[in-house]
Amino acid sequence: REAFGPSPVDLALLAIHQDLKGITDGEPSPSIPALANADPDHFGIVIATADGHVYETGDTRVPFSIQSISKAFTYGLALEDRGFEYVDSKIDVEPSGDAFNEISLDPVTHRPANPMINAGAITSTWMVADKDGTPRRERIRRLYSACADRELSIDDDVQRQESAEGHRNRALGWMLRSVDIIEEEPTQALEDYFAQCSVMLDARDLARMGATLAAGGLNPRTGERVLEPATVQRMLSVMNSCGMYDDAGEWFVRVGLPGKSGVGGGIIAVVPGQLAVATFSPPLDQHGNSVRGVAACERLSQALDLHFARGP
Ligand code: GLN
Repeated sequence: REAFGPSPVDLALLAIHQDLKGITDGEPSPSIPALANADPDHFGIVIATADGHVYETGDTRVPFSIQSISKAFTYGLALEDRGFEYVDSKIDVEPSGDAFNEISLDPVTHRPANPMINAGAITSTWMVADKDGTPRRERIRRLYSACADRELSIDDDVQRQESAEGHRNRALGWMLRSVDIIEEEPTQALEDYFAQCSVMLDARDLARMGATLAAGGLNPRTGERVLEPATVQRMLSVMNSCGMYDDAGEWFVRVGLPGKSGVGGGIIAVVPGQLAVATFSPPLDQHGNSVRGVAACERLSQALDLHFARGP
């Protein structure tokens, strides 16, 4: 490629990064010191294709915590461990229009509205099994690592801070326990949820995780089957309707792709069969979604003609 200069995709990434890096709206998440102290100037954009190619620009090697992007992947693991019927009896798949940390359980079934808000995500984590002597938390870490094709690790400081500040999530866990959605003391599941939010990665890892979803659960580089196609179909469907919390509708209008954000400043968007976009920029909007990240995804969706509802 070098002989012919940068590819059109590289040029699009560079132009979008250049155009958006001056945006100063939003603030890094105040929820824990590790997030509040993030450098607001960091900004990276990556595209990873379903056949293993990576295009990147900006701060794509800066580590950050995965936070809520973990929810989509842990939901997938819960589906594979427990089966669709059981998981569906515990978590609905309706966009709630609620904030990510809303205390919302269905009045009749008591199910959380979807696996992308915290109540649903804590339930997913609880459903992941200890298996063959490997505890739940390690199985979750291994799944994320297999999707990223790199050994990812849990940051002890982030995890301690998540746990120290996790009162609302504990309240959710005990609420779920009280209505028998979670069928045992939620303490371990909550600590495992804090740990999964504290998995560190960079935008390239995130894009590769997304590319594994784009490839229907096959890691594009290793060829390893990490998730079943039916699982990935479900994950992407729920990301599509619920991945951006109370901004899911606006996101879909602007970007037209299944996506998932985290308060660490990461976003993934997936084009099934083709590619994944990952962005990293810590300042968040009022929904907890990265301001530059959403803008970059919108611009890329336009530039590469990725919107679900694009014309013929
Ligand atoms: N750890 C955060 C929480 O549980 C994750 C939230 C998020 O990324 N939206 O509140």
